[in-house]
Amino acid sequence: MGAITIDSLTKRFDDVVAVDDVSVEIEDGEFLVLVGPSGCGKTTTLRMVAGLETPSEGAIRFDGELVNYTVPQDRDVAMVFQDYALYPHMTVRGNLKFGLEEEPDYTDAERDERVEEVAELLDIGNLLERKPGELSGGQQQRVALGRAIVRDPEVFLMDEPLSNLDAKLRAQMRTELQQLQDQLDVTTVYVTHDQTEAMTMSDRMVVMNDGELQQVGAPLELYHEPTNRFVAEFIGEPSMNFVDGQRGGDGFESETLDYPFDSTIESSVASLGDGDRLTLGIRPEDIELYDDAADVDVSHTEAMTVTVVEPMGNENVVHLTYDDSETRGDDLIAISDGLRTIETGAELLVRIPPEAIHLFDGDTGDALHNRLLETDEQPVTQ
Ligand code: ATP
Repeated sequence: MGAITIDSLTKRFDDVVAVDDVSVEIEDGEFLVLVGPSGCGKTTTLRMVAGLETPSEGAIRFDGELVNYTVPQDRDVAMVFQDYALYPHMTVRGNLKFGLEEEPDYTDAERDERVEEVAELLDIGNLLERKPGELSGGQQQRVALGRAIVRDPEVFLMDEPLSNLDAKLRAQMRTELQQLQDQLDVTTVYVTHDQTEAMTMSDRMVVMNDGELQQVGAPLELYHEPTNRFVAEFIGEPSMNFVDGQRGGDGFESETLDYPFDSTIESSVASLGDGDRLTLGIRPEDIELYDDAADVDVSHTEAMTVTVVEPMGNENVVHLTYDDSETRGDDLIAISDGLRTIETGAELLVRIPPEAIHLFDGDTGDALHNRLLETDEQPVTQ
């Protein structure tokens, strides 16, 4: 129990189309994350699943049963929001117990037992007699989660529940939430604008933009096989590099980069004619940096100058510009090993490996070619 079908769901607020014909099947027990930039329709989608908004068109089904007009109390969902909305005058115990007030099947003793069980699960058993004002942000967030868990619902709906926490605590709570969801095995729909949260926590993620579903899939599927430029750019930090140009020469041409294609890539762009707009994408970690020409296969390699190095400890984020580039728009960002010393102003040989490139239609943004993975056939080299 706990499968959710979202079928051609649309929500309009006057002339704003907040959610535009979105369909997704959420499996029982799945952790599904809705992710996308601010205003893309994530919260509105979640609120329709919760029963807090009525769809303009389309259907929501819980285990096959239409719930479009079912009130939230009858949907067996529990919600956790960004602001914890705890009752300040009640103790933690009172706040947790409040979640069970409307459960007629529980006796008072059973309610106490359930509260203690959940408090242990969340490691807040020693805080039961404190009031929310006497708790840290992370502890308050645990209580808010606890209030959802005590009810043992079929579905958890969470809207940016970690965004009020500092970075370190957020990372810790991310792991805890994931373990908890695994343990409880309750279908969870989780909204965030943070792609790291989406990547690390979800079984599958739904990327939205402008009310429309862009792609749904497992995190690494979206990372390596984006369906369009929007998904490619949104997933990954630092973002994928994009070079805008055209089909021409032996493959791709732009003001700064001429890039020959091998036959595998050639077949992916066969529908394009010479001069058609094409965008080349490459992830920062796939770019190879060489100090010395003797070390590198010179095909697909250009000399570039380092403009900025951001040392992160485990890695360096290296900003590069083409030697003869007047505009900064075509710069690349690469990631190199943290132990390697790279100086600002250094001239490096920068190789973009053919097996790692992505190509997008320059007009529509649709992916024409995605990087090869180990499971794919290796490309025929030039
Ligand atoms: P955020 O991350 O900023 O919360 P979101 O992706 O959750 O954004 P929504 O809150 O779902 O986006 O909003 C989607 C669009 O619908 C936005 O353009 C928003 O302004 C609009 N919208 C949302 N609720 C209403 C409302 N009650 N009345 C009018 N427009 C609304």
